[in-house]
Amino acid sequence: MAFHADVIWYDGKLIDWDKAQVHILAHALHYGSCAFDSVRCYKTQKGSVLFRTREHLIRLADSCKIYHMDMPYTTDELEQAVFDVLRSNNLEQAYVRPFVFRGMGTLGLNPFESPLHVSVAAWDWGAYLGEEALENGISVMVSSWHRAAPNTTPTMAKVAANYMNSQLIKMEAIKNGFDEGIALDAFGYVSEGSGENIFMVKNGVIYTPPTTSAILPGITRHSVFVIARDLGIRIEKHILPRESLYIADEVFLTGTAAEITPVTKIDDIVIGNGKRGPVTQKIQKRFFDIVNGTAEDTHNWLTYL
Ligand code: PMP
Repeated sequence: MAFHADVIWYDGKLIDWDKAQVHILAHALHYGSCAFDSVRCYKTQKGSVLFRTREHLIRLADSCKIYHMDMPYTTDELEQAVFDVLRSNNLEQAYVRPFVFRGMGTLGLNPFESPLHVSVAAWDWGAYLGEEALENGISVMVSSWHRAAPNTTPTMAKVAANYMNSQLIKMEAIKNGFDEGIALDAFGYVSEGSGENIFMVKNGVIYTPPTTSAILPGITRHSVFVIARDLGIRIEKHILPRESLYIADEVFLTGTAAEITPVTKIDDIVIGNGKRGPVTQKIQKRFFDIVNGTAEDTHNWLTYL
């Protein structure tokens, strides 16, 4: 695994990885004016597959729309760019990062004077929280940092600026010896992890906070809804008080990077029996069976390269 590949798609062309650079006065570097998304490409016995690419690219377009970024490429064109990057780099499995940012124009706050640039990069990246975490779970803390209040920085947009808040959550967790941090929303209800949505299981029912709890509406989160329904497991969106996590039978996090990661301890309180729970395991198994090509892709989530 290396954080490197041969080429990056940049404003419509494939260029050398090392040449994909920006000016230090780019608007995005100073004011966080960029939207991005991520897609995973999995290696299966039938070839490499992308998981829900279109949904990720549509969310990218939505993030741009919220911030008046006039995206110059269609979803079809960006999808083609994703294929081109993976093929040109001979990547069989990868993490793909489509990215839209305001480059160098002026450094005034008015962003309309800085030109938009678009790139798609990809590299080989394994389990985000570690292979072992997928099986044995992780230990998390509830962060002292909250997610943004409504009508401040919109959390439905996946934009760079939001990730300063995520970094505060992540750094606090690491400095305190935890693997990840969970943020509450402005009202003190459970929101999400620094880069993951959160789910809990109680008495066989799965619960997750609604979009009004300052979350990014995750595509993995949506996939968990569909998988749970397919498996006949009840799943609900619910405002969750912090303490409901402590007394849950199971807790897990979801995300393109984190996939489906069990949480076995929160603020040093053991969740359930301290091991990956049966509901988490069922959802996780179906998810990995689909992306690894061993279960039927009944919802057309996969695109073979
Ligand atoms: N919340 C945040 C803040 C995230 O960064 C991510 C990762 N994109 C998620 C949730 C999960 O979203 P997805 O499943 O679409 O990757």
